[in-house]
Formats: sequence, C-alpha cells, structure tokens
Amino acid sequence: MLTSICGINWGDEGKGRMVDLLSRDYDIVCRYQGGNNAGHTVVNDRGRFILNLLPSGILREDVVNVMGPGMVIDLKHLCGEIQKLREGGITISPENLKISDKAIITMPYNVLQDIMEEDRLSKATGKPYGSTRRGIAPVYADKYLKKAFRMGELLNPELLYKRLPDIVDWKNMTIKAYGFNPITVADMKAYFEEYGTLLKDYIVDVGAYLNAAHAEGKKIMFEAQLGALRDIDYGIVPYTSSSSTIAAYAPIGAGVPNLKIDKSIGIMKAYSSCVGAGPFTCEYFGEKAEKLRELGGEYGAATGRPRRVGPFDVVASRYGIMCQGADEIALTKLDVLDGYDEIEICTHYELEGKIIDHFPFTDVLDMCKPVFEKVKGWHTDISGCRRKEDLPKEALDYIRLLEELCGCKIKYVSVGAERDACIVMD
Ligand code: GDP
Ligand code: MG
Repeated sequence: MLTSICGINWGDEGKGRMVDLLSRDYDIVCRYQGGNNAGHTVVNDRGRFILNLLPSGILREDVVNVMGPGMVIDLKHLCGEIQKLREGGITISPENLKISDKAIITMPYNVLQDIMEEDRLSKATGKPYGSTRRGIAPVYADKYLKKAFRMGELLNPELLYKRLPDIVDWKNMTIKAYGFNPITVADMKAYFEEYGTLLKDYIVDVGAYLNAAHAEGKKIMFEAQLGALRDIDYGIVPYTSSSSTIAAYAPIGAGVPNLKIDKSIGIMKAYSSCVGAGPFTCEYFGEKAEKLRELGGEYGAATGRPRRVGPFDVVASRYGIMCQGADEIALTKLDVLDGYDEIEICTHYELEGKIIDHFPFTDVLDMCKPVFEKVKGWHTDISGCRRKEDLPKEALDYIRLLEELCGCKIKYVSVGAERDACIVMD
C-alpha cells in the first residue's frame, strides 16, 4: 500500500499534522522532495514540533522514516533538527531514519547564493522571488548542472575531497561576480567533516530498503513538502519551489521509481494562505486580512513571516486537485472560520471582463480579479467536535459545497492543531 500526502494549495495546508495523524496506519514515511525550506508544525501528546527536513513520521516510535533522493539536505540544519528533537524526547537512530545516498547536499555557498540573488533582485527589480533564503533554488540548479554533492559521497571522503577544489573555484566565479568574498576549500571540508561524520550511519540505498519493505507488505506513505501551486513545473513559476511537489513524483523522489501510488490524499485548507511573493488572486487586504491571519495563526513555521491570506479559492484548489490526482481530501483548519457570520468563497476569477473558472498561466494570473460569493457561517466553536454529527449544519453545508465545487470527496476535516482534532467524514 503506497499513499501520497500532498498539498492542494500554496503550502502550509497542514500536511505535517495529517501525516502525523494518518501515519498511525503506516510502517514507513518518506519525504521525497525539497529541503529545510519546509515548515511542518505538529502538535501531539509528545509536544509541539516544527519539522523542516525530517519526515513527520519521526514522532511515532514504530514508524521508519526515509529521506529520499529527491531531497536537498543541509547537513548542519539536519544535525540541529535531530538534536532538538532528541532534546524533546524523540528517539532518532539509523533504525528509524534512513537517508538516501542519492540525496543532494545543500552547501553553505548555496545559502549564500540564495541570499545574494534575492538581495540583487530586490535592488534591481523590487521583486524578489520570496525565497526562504535557505539555498534551495541554487542547490537544485547545481544538481541539474551535475555539480552538486550527494550524501553517498560522504562515505568516500577522499573521492569527495578530490572533486572539491574545482567546484570551489567554479562557485567562486559566481560569488565574486556578486562582489562577495570567495569561499575556501578548507571551510567546505570542515562542513563535510563536522556534520557529515554525524550522519554517516544513516546513509543507505533507500530504494533497496523500500522495495524490500513493499514486497513484505509494509505500508508506505509519501510526504510532500509544499503545495501543488509551488511545483516547479505546474505551480506559479517563478514564485515556486525548485522541486516537484506533486504526488506523481513521489515514487521517483522517494527512491522507488518502479512503484505506483495506490492513493493520493490531498491536504486542502478551509481558506487560503500564501507565504512569499507571486500572484494570489483571492488575497484579502487590510482589516479583513488581519482578522483571518490572526484567527488562523498564519505566520511561517520556517521563517516566521506573516502569511498572505484569503478565502477558499475554488479555481486554484480545483487545479491543485487535478495536479495531485487527489482521490480524497483532508480539509484542514475549519475551526478558523468559527468567528464569521458569513464566509466568503472565491468561486471564479474575472479576466478582462470575462468570468473564468480555469487556473491560468502565471502572467495572466496577475491580471485576474477574484469573484467572491458568500455563504452562511456557523459562528460557534467547533474545535471540540470529533464526529460528523457534532458539526453544525452550516459547517456541514460548507464542507459539502467545497466538495461539490471541487469535485473531490472530503474524507477528513480537521478542527484543531492537536493530533486527535480531526473528524472522519464517512
Ligand atoms: P504544512 O507545512 O502543510 O505541514 O503546514 P504548517 O504546519 O506550515 O501550517 C499549518 C499550521 O496550522 C500549523 O501551525 C498547525 O499546527 C496548524 N493546524 C493544523 N491543522 C489545524 C486545524 O485543524 N486547526 C487549527 N486551528 N490549526 C491547525
Ligand atoms: Mg508549512
């Protein structure tokens, strides 16, 4: 059984919390793309955790976690994240964490490149990409230029160190062009030595491990890091991440391109949020935005940045569901809408005087205006509801309406950040 958990919107839909909940029925959780630009907040009986690189299954004692070849891994950040979780009482060992030898290493110079380029863009155009400044775009670029280092190379440092001086020379050509001080071979060696040594025992051929586990009948879950609209091919390029966030990529990014997913569960938020720049048609401004941001606690887990917010966007969500091939939906954060008499939904976009219902190309998106409709709110606290029957009629109507407008079954509804604050809609 292979299930993919993926985001339908712009990210921060609550993927981490759903993986934490649903992984109770799985043996293995794999992250298949992205790096420490992710921020999954998970609240359960063991505490409140923010996961950037580690799969969200790490909080369950009996789940094995895999970091796949599609990931980019900042060694220092991963060591810090492991350390922090251990301090929080979480066990992490080569038994429950396996890192792909083919995963890419994010280098300190990639982080520098990200910062240099965002700052240059800000000055030159006033329109930075809204990057998390954690080196993700530059390290994926290096991967495709075949200049990146892979985790497996940490197992043969003498070969790695032979390759290092030329890469440093090549990278310095770029760094100097930005007017920054060159990096040194010694510093990069120190990075590999200090953090690589700590991670050596976790590095394996995860494909071999996953195929053997699958053959034994183990249940495998793939965890996406960002939403469909941040996908490098299908998202709002260039305001996207630099990896494939969609479910179809999960087996490839996890290390098992030979396997096919059985189920895609899309995580979709009951309203919209978007961190960083780019077109966000349904966006609220002013007081309306402040109210929703406060109610939803919409501040980035990885960066602390206030997230842009808006009502549920049918046009974007339907596109996200198509991209993810979602079989069913987990609708999250419904409780955030408790405080409204009337709830707005963005049902269509208006483009040059015409009403459209398809999600257009990025440049065209900039010209689109939202068309809002209002539905009746429930205006009561639903955070204690645990069964469908506990929900007020208006909340059930809202769920049914989204189901109808988006054309996908809503199987789960979450009404709080805690692990058990979730309703199964059978
Ligand atoms: P992810 O990146 O998709 O894993 O999502 P984030 O963790 O970045 O953002 C989701 C935020 O909403 C986190 O702070 C969660 O603790 C919180 N959250 C998740 N589900 C719910 C819910 O049903 N209700 C409320 N109020 N908060 C939730
Ligand atoms: Mg997040």
